Amino acid sequence: MDQWKYGQCVKTGLRHRRYGADCQDFVFAAEDENCIAVALCDGLGSLPASGYAAKYTSIAVCRILQQCATYDFRRFASDKSGLLKDLLERVNAALAKRFAEMHIDRKLADSTLAFVFVSKTFGFCYAACLGDSAVCLIKKSGCECLTESNAHSESTASVDMKKPWMYAAQAIVDLEDGDFLGAVLTSDGLDGEIYTKDSSLVFKATEYYFNAMLAADAEGALDERLTAIQTEYGDYYDDDISVAVLSRAEKRMKFPDDPTWLCRCGARNDLTETFCAHCGSDFMNVYHKINFNKYGGRAMFFRYMNRHPDLEKKVIGLHEIERRVTHTPPPAPKTEQRYAQRLHTIHAVQPEPQPAANNSPPVAGQPPAQLIPTIKTAEPLTGEEPDPAHFENVLAAGQEQRRQKRMLIAAAGAAAGAAAAGGVAAAVIHRSSHKKPDNDD
Ligand SMILES: [Zn+2]
Repeated sequence: MDQWKYGQCVKTGLRHRRYGADCQDFVFAAEDENCIAVALCDGLGSLPASGYAAKYTSIAVCRILQQCATYDFRRFASDKSGLLKDLLERVNAALAKRFAEMHIDRKLADSTLAFVFVSKTFGFCYAACLGDSAVCLIKKSGCECLTESNAHSESTASVDMKKPWMYAAQAIVDLEDGDFLGAVLTSDGLDGEIYTKDSSLVFKATEYYFNAMLAADAEGALDERLTAIQTEYGDYYDDDISVAVLSRAEKRMKFPDDPTWLCRCGARNDLTETFCAHCGSDFMNVYHKINFNKYGGRAMFFRYMNRHPDLEKKVIGLHEIERRVTHTPPPAPKTEQRYAQRLHTIHAVQPEPQPAANNSPPVAGQPPAQLIPTIKTAEPLTGEEPDPAHFENVLAAGQEQRRQKRMLIAAAGAAAGAAAAGGVAAAVIHRSSHKKPDNDD
């Protein structure tokens, strides 16, 4: 029998704390001899009673899933929509009853929903995600993130909307082959850290959360990380943050590095960077013709491109430009160096001239669709033996990185205020932040 480990952590967002508002994220987990159910909900910020919606939805989902533990959901694999429809109708009925008892108007309370259900009886995992929260399925063969982009909804889907099951991303995974190791559930408070809304990519930082289950104090490790994020990086991660991890891994897993975008100057940049840290080129300009959705989102597109360097250069027309470049393209900079370079860019370097749109090489900006036939979910994970010092080291490194970033951003802001071109520099810093600061969810 598998040994499942579970941990969760929920933090009220700094923005909510400032206004004395309650946390609107809620995580609930239940285990019995047949199954384990974990549900995470993020209340919709636009509705005043959404904190209750998050709480009672997550509880109702787990209880109803527990009652269904005698069913083998794999029979519904071809009709997951019907399966979720049935579940959500029961959940909504239970919520209607609960809210009536509490005299809460259902129209004033709604939430997203992410859940995993592990059937010990039948040996499968059923996971679903509705709205902009996420379920990251952690597999040896490669991780996959279920989030709303997979369902092609136009605005954030929620439990109380019309036909919510139509907008959910879902998966049913067999447990017997040992490939599936667990799941990381999170609200959009960690968008940019664990996942990104437009993609099925799982970021490398998720490694920490998943491996934390091997620590003696798993929830302490999660709490430490989230506290560090809020303390050191709070301007970007100011929403409510919640994370729940379910794992049966017996050793520490190593996740693949995050993808980067290649600039025409040859520099590599984080996907969170809007402008090239080396030459200042605008990402939107370099990749303006690419329809990322066609390739499974921006992150998946670049993960594929990074593995095919020749195609990557072709896509941005770099093979043409290279003839004119006299210097060697710079190597991939480390994160902290990027910020130093950006400051240098802002104050000292003019962007390189870009080829005009009408005389660019024929392939520039347009990946031939047939060259990118299938984008695989992710690279396989590799395992390592547990290392007790790992969590302390990762945490310390993360804190140091964020401290340096904050100092550089502060310095850039001060310099920008003093310099004549202050507005431009401030805009660069602002637009390339990890997360849009005015996210009002
Ligand atoms: Zn560049």
